[in-house]
Amino acid sequence: MTVFPIEKFKKLQTPFYYYDMDLLEKTLSLVNEESEKYDFNVHYAIKANANDRILEKIRQKGFGIDCVSGYEIKKALEIGFTPDGIVFAGVGKADWEIELGLKHDIACFNVESLPELEIINELAQNAGKKARVAFRINPNVNANTHHYITTGLDENKFGISMTDLEKVIDRMKELNHVEFEGMHFHIGSQITDLDNFKDLCLRINELQDWFISRHLFPRIINVGGGFGIDYEDPESHPVPDFSSYFKVFKDFLDLKSGQEVHFELGRSVVAQCGNLISRVLYVKEGVKTRFAIIDAGMTDLIRPALYQASHKVQNLTNPGGEKKKYDVVGPICESSDSFGKALDLPEMKRGDFVAIRSAGAYGEVMVSRYNLREEPKAYYSDTI
Ligand SMILES: *Cc1c(COP(=O)(O)O)cnc(C)c1O
Repeated sequence: MTVFPIEKFKKLQTPFYYYDMDLLEKTLSLVNEESEKYDFNVHYAIKANANDRILEKIRQKGFGIDCVSGYEIKKALEIGFTPDGIVFAGVGKADWEIELGLKHDIACFNVESLPELEIINELAQNAGKKARVAFRINPNVNANTHHYITTGLDENKFGISMTDLEKVIDRMKELNHVEFEGMHFHIGSQITDLDNFKDLCLRINELQDWFISRHLFPRIINVGGGFGIDYEDPESHPVPDFSSYFKVFKDFLDLKSGQEVHFELGRSVVAQCGNLISRVLYVKEGVKTRFAIIDAGMTDLIRPALYQASHKVQNLTNPGGEKKKYDVVGPICESSDSFGKALDLPEMKRGDFVAIRSAGAYGEVMVSRYNLREEPKAYYSDTI
């Protein structure tokens, strides 16, 4: 359970991110323990949180890295991740990004279209190299998650559709500077129903046979990420159930000898260790509602405004106070700058500390300077 050192917070300017490093440690250890049972390989999806201290800890724990831009590859190398654990996905890889990956001999390019495959081949030829590639396949599996974070359906821009796959592999056979490594998937994010991953496994089994019948052996099966966390009750579920998660893939993937299973976990690794800490500026009695106006806004944590996501809001100063209803809103000049409507919260007063929980993933990394605000600082439980 995350403990908030309020006395120490009093000296700090709000809003800021506060990371529970013990919880991160516990989470990483559990991922390692559960994935090692089956010899699974885990890459951390760096886009979820690219904070140096967090990355350093993840590196120490031996994770690989999943990147979706050249900037992320640079960052990973800077922190000391080795290229043999770096995989690179994304629908719009620019030439310099591909060249960077080739220069460092990263483990794999996860290719999302035929034109991209041709460009990777051309740039690899120019560099006198062979690029290892896996095809990101859009398996048309519904992740039953918010439509903004669903990626594995035919209408999404990601991956190669099943109907184009034949064409892509025929073309690949003519290209001399790409080497086929396997299949890659990523069907969406914040997926809490493990049946969706079971469906993915079953689809992968069919696809494997399809590849093998065309004389291509997928040595690597990269199932992506997407495992969800409990945003409603982070106290009861500070660490996701990685045991059940990895077991689904063990139980339902029909693996052949020599195959490796890779994962790209982002949110499930870092979400619960991060909190956005803010102070109440004003309590405003509106016509129909009571507003708690806090000094953190959508520039600090955009998920509610962007995906209609909800994060648990907690009054740290007055946890036992009489419950009242509040719309908790930020100071930004946008109506979507809200952290929740009609929330039952202990009475809020000016100056109270508020924690917005489960903000470690897609939080700090999406900070913007809209309204010319300053970027929030980050503090860590072990050094504050
Ligand atoms: C974002 C992303 C991930 C991580 O997703 P989470 O839901 O944070 O686990 C993994 N793979 C790819 C290709 C991604 O784009």
